[in-house]
Amino acid sequence: MEVLLLKCGEMVLKGLNRKRFEERLLQVLRERLAPCGKFSLYSMQSTVTVTPADASFDMDRAFELSRHVFGLVSVCRAAVCEKDMDDIYRVAPDYLSELLSGVSTFKVDARRSDKKFPLTSMDIMRELGAVLLERFPHLRVDVNDPEAVIRVEIRDRNAFVHGPAVPGAGGLPSGINGRAALLISGGIDSPVAAYMMARRGLALTGIHFFSYPYTSPRALQKVRDLLAIVGRAAGDIPLIVVPFTRVQEVIRDRCPEELSTLVLRRCMMRVAQRIAWKKDCHALVTGESLGQVASQTLLALGVTDAVADMPVFRPLIGMDKTDIIKISREIDTFDTSILPYEDCCTVFTPKHPKTKPRLAEIEAAEAKCALDELLDEAYTRALAGDFMDSPENRG
Ligand code: ATP
Ligand code: MG
Repeated sequence: MEVLLLKCGEMVLKGLNRKRFEERLLQVLRERLAPCGKFSLYSMQSTVTVTPADASFDMDRAFELSRHVFGLVSVCRAAVCEKDMDDIYRVAPDYLSELLSGVSTFKVDARRSDKKFPLTSMDIMRELGAVLLERFPHLRVDVNDPEAVIRVEIRDRNAFVHGPAVPGAGGLPSGINGRAALLISGGIDSPVAAYMMARRGLALTGIHFFSYPYTSPRALQKVRDLLAIVGRAAGDIPLIVVPFTRVQEVIRDRCPEELSTLVLRRCMMRVAQRIAWKKDCHALVTGESLGQVASQTLLALGVTDAVADMPVFRPLIGMDKTDIIKISREIDTFDTSILPYEDCCTVFTPKHPKTKPRLAEIEAAEAKCALDELLDEAYTRALAGDFMDSPENRG
């Protein structure tokens, strides 16, 4: 019978929290692997074994899905054996035949977590090696640089035989560190930021500022698509859409142009923070990177942070755009991110934004815009799901 062996990552280091981490990981696995059929989970010594309940279990799909589960350092398929060398000799050659037929050198690597097992690891390596050589005469043992490494694990209940493992997604089990609000724009950066924080065990609630008709429903659909892609690893990400047309128009009409982007960003932070409180989120996550655009200079970020009363996580802050794009390709968001639909910032972008703003001048500009009531309204309408601005209600 074939199972999945999933090796847990750094959660094993978390001392007293370990139990909680393990339970969360098992819960996530139960949810994510459910579409593959019936199975049981068994967790021991930082390895989770996924055992199919019957032959209808879709092992290929379970293997693929497991690779996206945070908290695992490696994932592999393995054959289950009795804790008995004869059974291992019986199972291993057939199970490994495809792998071993395609290579010319191999070695066997054995590990015993059950030290009562009669053979030592060295014995197991030597003896199984001999059995495999006999069955596959084209093979040669190469202990330094083998094309295939065959692993035998003697664990508490069973022995397992397998070929190479693939890397897992790493990080910490989904949601183990609580929930944060993600400001998602539809660009390249914020979905990458989302992935990175979700990988650190944060559940996410998305917030998107939407300025219909300056931005189209297609731009909104793009945001939903991006959340669905990130959600494959991060878990479900609900989205709250904030109607921001009037706020943007008022800023355009009443605010000095070079300060308008920062005033807008502070408005976003204010509303996002209120939504975060309401939705039990304890941090904000953005895709900002130091110096990437005018609103992301050191002083601009300081002015933006001045309105936030909760941690603002910017996981991309020290990354180059090329690094960010690389991750975005890896997590499969890039092609969607570069679709051309305008986001609300680009429509209103000033020609010469101020890169060294002072807090006092921004606050003075804001006072002139008298935005408090509009922000209240945007917040209330966002929670009510009322985000389409028609010409009539734009006043
Ligand atoms: P991105 O690639 O994520 O769009 P960007 O490089 O275009 O980022 P900005 O447009 O300045 O940079 O936005 C910086 C961050 O502010 C974004 O990463 C995102 O977290 C947030 N943000 C910007 N626009 C919106 C929006 N319309 N709705 C929600 N969040 C937004
Ligand atoms: Mg953007």
